Amino acid sequence: MLILVLNCGSSSVKFAVLDPQSSEVPLSGLIERIGTAEATTTFKRGREKQQAALPGGTYEAAFEAINSALIALGLRDQVRAVGHRAVHGGAVFSGSARITPAVLAAIRACVPLAPLHNPANIAGIEAAQAAFPTLPQVAVFDTAFHQTMPPVAFRYAVPEGWYTQHGVRKYGFHGTSHEYVAQEAAKMLGQPLAELNLVTAHLGNGCSATAVQGGKSIDSSMGLTPLEGLVMGSRSGDVDPGLHDYIARQAGLTLTQVTSALNKESGLLGLSGLTNDMRELEEAAARGHPGAKLAVDIFVYRLAKTIAALAVPLERLDALVFTGGIGENSATIRAATLGRLKLLGFQVDETANQQAVRGHGGPITTPGSPPALVVNTNEELMIARETLRIVSGE
Ligand code: ADP
Repeated sequence: MLILVLNCGSSSVKFAVLDPQSSEVPLSGLIERIGTAEATTTFKRGREKQQAALPGGTYEAAFEAINSALIALGLRDQVRAVGHRAVHGGAVFSGSARITPAVLAAIRACVPLAPLHNPANIAGIEAAQAAFPTLPQVAVFDTAFHQTMPPVAFRYAVPEGWYTQHGVRKYGFHGTSHEYVAQEAAKMLGQPLAELNLVTAHLGNGCSATAVQGGKSIDSSMGLTPLEGLVMGSRSGDVDPGLHDYIARQAGLTLTQVTSALNKESGLLGLSGLTNDMRELEEAAARGHPGAKLAVDIFVYRLAKTIAALAVPLERLDALVFTGGIGENSATIRAATLGRLKLLGFQVDETANQQAVRGHGGPITTPGSPPALVVNTNEELMIARETLRIVSGE
């Protein structure tokens, strides 16, 4: 039995057809430049990759192409449901939900909270309903895992009416990844998740860290939007809220332009003046590029401070988990971060750290240190499992 997992963005769709039990992926792919005449599909089957143009360039055309590929491979009859990655579920969704008209309306009501992401998710859901009318569809929210945060963690110190009338609070994101790696870390440590106090650091293009107590999120670095918290590829993370008004007046920018610059021109890209890509930055820093070195240093400094802060509500830190493209692949960032966390007793095992690369996670600290682990995230698998759980519970 297979689940079709869809991650619909404004200009791309990532998909995977996978078996939630064995975690095998007989087909996956990427459709890029959706909404343009240059749209392309890349389908992957094992090591085989096939690229083609996508006439029409719409979500509908994309799903038709996926459907045809499934039929051609004789897999279509095994697909039991469609699971959608949905970005913002507000305070409405504390878990995954089968998509009904009411659920779709609730996702639509969250558009103001995620104007970049939710409209694409909705368009993807509607197109998938048309392309796969007989399959149940499930939404798995990035925010749902964090709905267990207590008010002391999720409320901002702003006028109460902003919260009660406009939903201004922390929501947290990357929940699917934080939940998955917390479960995998418990397996790796051979201890029940219910008894573990973890900090999970998801470090990709977007970055966030979460305090996970007994398998539940109790605090997270991202907030009302995915802009808060850590330094990211092109997102600033935390800044002084007074910055918006100041820079708008000084540079003659609108509020929308300031927000856009904080999302797209800041972070590693803004600091280095070079790139948002950590691998390239590490190479440039090693060649002596001062902007690249500063960007990497600030990334690590802010990450270490946030991890230490998230240990406070946990009261006891049983393990730190690194995941995401940077967390899984960059021994340099991991070692530098642990080096700044001596307060928590971390000591890196250089050999283990160098050996932990994508696909080969594990502990990277010495026996006397609290464990830091590298865990490979698998959001598609988590969405497939959630989708199966929801459709078989009905
Ligand atoms: P996304 O958040 O878009 O899913 P990923 O989780 O794939 O992205 O993370 C992308 C980031 O991971 C990029 O900054 C990339 O440079 C970084 N990365 C991937 N491999 C390495 C590596 N070997 N060393 C350092 N950074 C790496």
